[in-house]
Amino acid sequence: MIARRQMLLGSAYRLFYENPVHIVRGEDVWLYDADGQKYLDMYNNVPHVGHCHPQVVAAICDQVSTLNTHTRYLHENVLAFAEQLTAKFPADLDTAMFCCSGSEANELALRIASAVSGNKGLIVTDYAYHGNTRATYEISTSDIAAGEIPGYVVTVPAPDTYRGRYRGDDAADRYAAHVVDAIELLKQRGYKPAAFVVDTIMSSSGIVSPPPGYFHKVAGIIRRAGGLFIADEVQPGFGRTGRNFWGFEADDLVPDIVTLGKPMGNGHPLAAVVTRRDLIESFGKNAQYFNTFGGNPVSSAAGLAVLDIIERENLQRNALDVGKFIIDGLERLAENHDCIGDVRGSGLFLAVELVMDREARTPATELAGQVVENLRERGVLTGTIGPDSNILKVRSPMTLSTNDAEYFLAALKDSL
Ligand code: PMP
Repeated sequence: MIARRQMLLGSAYRLFYENPVHIVRGEDVWLYDADGQKYLDMYNNVPHVGHCHPQVVAAICDQVSTLNTHTRYLHENVLAFAEQLTAKFPADLDTAMFCCSGSEANELALRIASAVSGNKGLIVTDYAYHGNTRATYEISTSDIAAGEIPGYVVTVPAPDTYRGRYRGDDAADRYAAHVVDAIELLKQRGYKPAAFVVDTIMSSSGIVSPPPGYFHKVAGIIRRAGGLFIADEVQPGFGRTGRNFWGFEADDLVPDIVTLGKPMGNGHPLAAVVTRRDLIESFGKNAQYFNTFGGNPVSSAAGLAVLDIIERENLQRNALDVGKFIIDGLERLAENHDCIGDVRGSGLFLAVELVMDREARTPATELAGQVVENLRERGVLTGTIGPDSNILKVRSPMTLSTNDAEYFLAALKDSL
């Protein structure tokens, strides 16, 4: 299979693990390979309410066997979904536009920001990921080579208070000051800012916990310069962090545009832009929007089922409680393992930063890679993130129980 894959799909595709996993079935938080070996899924956030949740499966099957078409005809599902989705946002964010992927949602958000502001400049945090289209690739500072970044994109440091350059009480101000500098740099290059774009949990940068007030300050700075604040909620959204339904709520902020994806359809391709009506009115003056598959009746049925399950199964609360249980367990492990430099995050989106030396905080890249391999041998799937790939990403479906969490902690202890 590895050879066929290489031949058929080519070298831009990557596989996880030295001994790749061949998964054939999923159920709740468990994945099963072709030999019947089971794995606890501590990596995938897309199956938000659990792999193959029967209610999502039924909603998709019912609708796909009745009708699937696009959004240029009237259909109740897309309206019900837009109503229920926007109800989850602050009142001003009252309009939804549907897409099939997070990349498409960010692409559309960038178009809206440019059209509404009349500007082209974009400010992004370093080592961020926002998508695979041309425009989103240009702001995916984790992927793009420095030489390829266009002049209208300026990068600011991710507000990392563990490893970053500012760690004290004034970190929010000092990191926000980089946005002021970025606006100035854009000006020197002949651009004004259209938007500041940020993944509110900064997953690719290493699940950075921004110092309180950072987003709020940046929103003020970018708006005063005529740009918009785009919150990329593709990763932290839908209650993932336990404390809030959306990542931006952690900083008491109402973004101008929010983008959604990954967990929204529990694996069915579904994504959205949610924003203010006045911005869409302004965008819609010169543009029309159509997406052949985005928000179709089947996708909307999947999205409605996901929202319903999050609420009925109390999954945001579960994420908070089980996440806390894991953090406590990780902190106990850190007492005996000096390589655990930092444990952070909240809900079921946690980072375990591995270091060679706690004082110097030297990234333990090789060790982290080995731990991920060891965990796989012990039936647990995770991954690494961050510029140095030394951070374990702990991000399971939202249905993880404390029993599952114990299984993970025991496997991690053994792997370390
Ligand atoms: N934004 C963020 C923060 C992401 O993590 C991703 C996917 N990893 C995307 C956007 C792009 O989403 P998609 O792969 O669905 O296009």
